[in-house]
Amino acid sequence: MLYLTQGYKQMPAEILKSAMFKDDYKQMVVVKDIEIYSMCEHHMLPFFGKAHIAYIPNGYIVGLSKLPRVADAFARRLQVQERLTTEIINCIQDTINPVGAAVVIEAQHMCMCMRGVSKQNSVTTTSAFTGVFLKDERTRAEFMKIISSKLH
Ligand SMILES: [Zn+2]
Repeated sequence: MLYLTQGYKQMPAEILKSAMFKDDYKQMVVVKDIEIYSMCEHHMLPFFGKAHIAYIPNGYIVGLSKLPRVADAFARRLQVQERLTTEIINCIQDTINPVGAAVVIEAQHMCMCMRGVSKQNSVTTTSAFTGVFLKDERTRAEFMKIISSKLH
């Protein structure tokens, strides 16, 4: 349980600050299919799935591995998927001040699979957008297309 909640001891903003680099890259950066393991705070049961994170730099890029690290720092706490999504995006927006950021999480919740409504195959999707992802439909569509397609 201590391992699963180690995120309380981590400072996600510091994780990003530790690897921020000045750079002129102005296009979308997407890290997709990040495995997420978290714990539902209502039922103390796992929920798990994938997170997809994007941002458009505004003078600074971050080390790519830091985005999954930030996701883990928030996921390894007692959570709800909705708050996990907004905590990740707020951290990215507040720390590196990008032109915009996007986070989509799709997850299966054991509290829905093995108790209550007993649905084994339902997937919950949450999303959050800031800046240009919020204002510009085409930017958001490009991100959704990238995370939906199999490029690799
Ligand atoms: Zn639950």
